[in-house]
Amino acid sequence: MDTASENCSVKVAVHVRPLIGDERAQGCKECVAVTHGNPQVQIGTHSFTFDHVYGNGGSPSSAMFGECVAPLVDGLFQGYNATVLAYGQTGSGKTYTMGTGLREGFQTGLIPQVMNALFNKIETLRHQMEFQLHVSFIEILKEEVRDLLDSVSVSKSVTANGHAGKVSISGRPPIQIRESSNGVITLAGSTEVAVNTLQEMAACLEQGSLSRATGSTNMNNQSSRSHAIFTITLEQMRKLHSVSPDNGTPDEDMDEEYFCAKLHLVDLAGSERAKRTGSDGLRLKEGIHINRGLLALGNVISALGDEKKRREGVHVPYRDSKLTRLLQDSLGGNSKTVMIACISPADINAEESLNTLKYANRARNIQNKPVVNRDLISSDMQKLRQQLKYLQAELCARAGGAPSDEVQVLKGRIAWLEATNEDLCQELHEYRSRRAVVEHCETDAQEGPVSFVKSDGLKRGFQSIDSSDYQMDEAVSDGNSSEIEEVAKEWEHALWQNTMDKELNELNKRLEQKESEMKLFGDVDTEALRHHFGKKIMELEGEKRIVQQERDRLLAEIENLAANSDGHTQKMQDGHTLKLKALEAQILELKKKQESQVELLKQKHKSDEAAKRLQAEIQSIKAQKVQLQNKIKQEAEQFRQWKASREKELLQLKKEGRKNEFERHKLEALNQRQKMVLQRKTEEAAIATKRLKELLEARKSSARENSVNSTGYTTPTGQSNEKSLQKWLEHELEVSANVHEVRFKYEKQSQVQAALADELTILKQVDQLSLNGHSPQRGKNGHSRLSSLSPNARMERIASLENMLNMSSKALVEMASQLSEAEERERALVGRGRWNHLRFMGDAKNLLQYMFNVAAETRFQLWEKDTEIKEIKEQLNDLVALLKQSEAQRKELVKEQRMREQAVTIALASSASVRFSAQHFMFTSLLILHTAPVHPVLTISWHEEI
Ligand code: ADP
Ligand code: MG
Repeated sequence: MDTASENCSVKVAVHVRPLIGDERAQGCKECVAVTHGNPQVQIGTHSFTFDHVYGNGGSPSSAMFGECVAPLVDGLFQGYNATVLAYGQTGSGKTYTMGTGLREGFQTGLIPQVMNALFNKIETLRHQMEFQLHVSFIEILKEEVRDLLDSVSVSKSVTANGHAGKVSISGRPPIQIRESSNGVITLAGSTEVAVNTLQEMAACLEQGSLSRATGSTNMNNQSSRSHAIFTITLEQMRKLHSVSPDNGTPDEDMDEEYFCAKLHLVDLAGSERAKRTGSDGLRLKEGIHINRGLLALGNVISALGDEKKRREGVHVPYRDSKLTRLLQDSLGGNSKTVMIACISPADINAEESLNTLKYANRARNIQNKPVVNRDLISSDMQKLRQQLKYLQAELCARAGGAPSDEVQVLKGRIAWLEATNEDLCQELHEYRSRRAVVEHCETDAQEGPVSFVKSDGLKRGFQSIDSSDYQMDEAVSDGNSSEIEEVAKEWEHALWQNTMDKELNELNKRLEQKESEMKLFGDVDTEALRHHFGKKIMELEGEKRIVQQERDRLLAEIENLAANSDGHTQKMQDGHTLKLKALEAQILELKKKQESQVELLKQKHKSDEAAKRLQAEIQSIKAQKVQLQNKIKQEAEQFRQWKASREKELLQLKKEGRKNEFERHKLEALNQRQKMVLQRKTEEAAIATKRLKELLEARKSSARENSVNSTGYTTPTGQSNEKSLQKWLEHELEVSANVHEVRFKYEKQSQVQAALADELTILKQVDQLSLNGHSPQRGKNGHSRLSSLSPNARMERIASLENMLNMSSKALVEMASQLSEAEERERALVGRGRWNHLRFMGDAKNLLQYMFNVAAETRFQLWEKDTEIKEIKEQLNDLVALLKQSEAQRKELVKEQRMREQAVTIALASSASVRFSAQHFMFTSLLILHTAPVHPVLTISWHEEI
């Protein structure tokens, strides 16, 4: 079945993903360095070289497909099998890289890119070839193979909580791994879907991914424990008589060629090891179970990757797990294989990342032997054709002298053979097309309704923080602005008062003016005046009348006199006339006087009216004034209240400021103390780590010596050999204990780091919130202390936390590095490997005796320690009891004191009226207070009697 066979090693690429949200939130630091321009990765002091490194300073991830996978797709068309393995711890980006996840990487992952490339290529070759594509998608979970494209069994296993039963519930036999006589591994019973278009293939991937997700109660959990294998089978048939000269395959001259190649795309289970701390067997057992496939894979890789072992022909344990059986061809067999080692750059993952890199590094040494796969039927046909040719040639040769009946027989046979050949071809074609049809129907039938379950993913509950805790912060942080506000308010108040005062003054002035005006009127009694004027007018009238009468009389007298005119009378007449004139003048004057009086009266009336108006005005001004005064009073009251509250607030602030100051001091002390503790812890860890490193290195060299010794076949030189073996054992035990210690410290350090990171996250959130001007709310679970820190204290704490995190991160990476080393060595010594160099029974017995002694002594020490602990515990219990007792006493005393004080106040109040008794009481109560501790109950009852 083979023509061209070539040796090629497994290619290994590293994909370093960026820090993800969770890691950032945890304050993780990056600990993976990629050498620029070289495919080299460094963690701590370890450095590895690979075929490619992507991400985190290496080549861009987008180049991965072109460099690593596209050649495999091309090879597929030449008939070469291929495999892409994604390896790494859970969360390192395997699913993302492969594109088997439902949400992420579904477009950019390798599988979607493979599908694109595949169909593009098929499109360009369609006129020369016939293609048939099949896909299968399976999952290996707990050593069970689950068909991800079998919708019936998938939906059934959903109801069974994702536990795939031994027998598929759909009635189909469980999927089995079969090996054909020629060593080809096949999956019997798994769905193989024939696909014709890119869309159909993508739908298969999607359906499988979906059933992988829904088939588990906990997606993350399950996908991290299961291996998912997406397989694309490409069959090609070069069409009859359509030989293209540019496709330079060695079989051009043949009429029909058939290739069949498979591409496995594998998303492996999470590579993390079961935690070694904690002795609960359950976890360990589960851990081993999870890793069964990976463990076997590691052993296969070790067996294949070690050149010495390979030369020695060491057994490769493919059969240890389903995964390795299925991937048998991919590792050391007929496949071109690429492994993509996915790692996280975070310091907390340093150990696993190191393990992954070591694992991947071993895989680089595996040599594969890919061959071009031609179909068996095709080669059968070839044989028949060759036979035919041979017979035809024979016929031609014999045509000359051979008897005609023989020719006839031969001709008959030829005809029969040709007919058979034709029949066979026909049958083959029929079977092919029938299979295609059947499979098509099958997939149609299986594509039942698929329920989409959207996993919400882990939503980090956002810490809500209460506002009341914040006010202080705000008050302090916004101190400036509130001060300004306060000054402004006072200023405003002053201004307002000023204007009010002015207004009031204005009013007062006006009032004064009006009142003085009023006074002008007010001095004169108008009624009396009128009366007076009236009387005066009357008088004047009367006078006038008298004068007029007198004038009339005088006039009559003058006339009389004129009639008896004589000298005397003339004289009298003249006198009268004069008098008359005077009278007339008097009258005139009186008239004038009267007129002026009337005028005056009129004016008086007018001014009266004016006065009235003035009065009204005054009244309104007065009312206005009262109003204004009220207003001013009110405002003043308001201002006073505001001022008072402000002062109260200020006082509060001052108090809180003091509290803040106190908090700050406390925090500073805490920072300092924590830092010291951390420093001490990391120093201790560093010492333990260093010791481990030394031990490991020492063992490396001693192991070499030992192996030389044992292979050198020197007869045991008694004492010295025994001593050296004992030393070796001691050393071995010490390493073991030391690893335990470092791992313990590592776990503790991780916890510390997590706690620090947690606090940092919260503080940063609080900081962000206050920066955005949001009013933060009180945290639910004890975060109030953090959110109530003043901004300065917060900054300090953040800086301190970051500092500590850095320190812790370094220590963690260092420890992880040594732990990974230790684990690496442990792996090599697992089982009997440790005792390989013990070749003589005598040695073994001696060592066993020594070991017995050590174990016995250890047990004895353990017993002693146990006893000691028991004693200490008893002491502790006694102390605790004592403490409880004295605490109870203290409480009792406090209660008594309170009662006594109460009694004193009551008595004081009641006896205040009677001085004597008060004094007496004071005296007695003082007495009581003095004598109290002696007989409290007694004194109280005595006091009550009083
Ligand atoms: P795994 O399959 O190894 O458990 P995932 O592929 O599920 O890991 O990746 C874990 C998380 O890391 C996912 O949230 C994924 O979005 C993210 N992630 C992985 N690789 C990358 C990458 N190259 N770039 C950005 N995010 C990534
Ligand atoms: Mg995954």
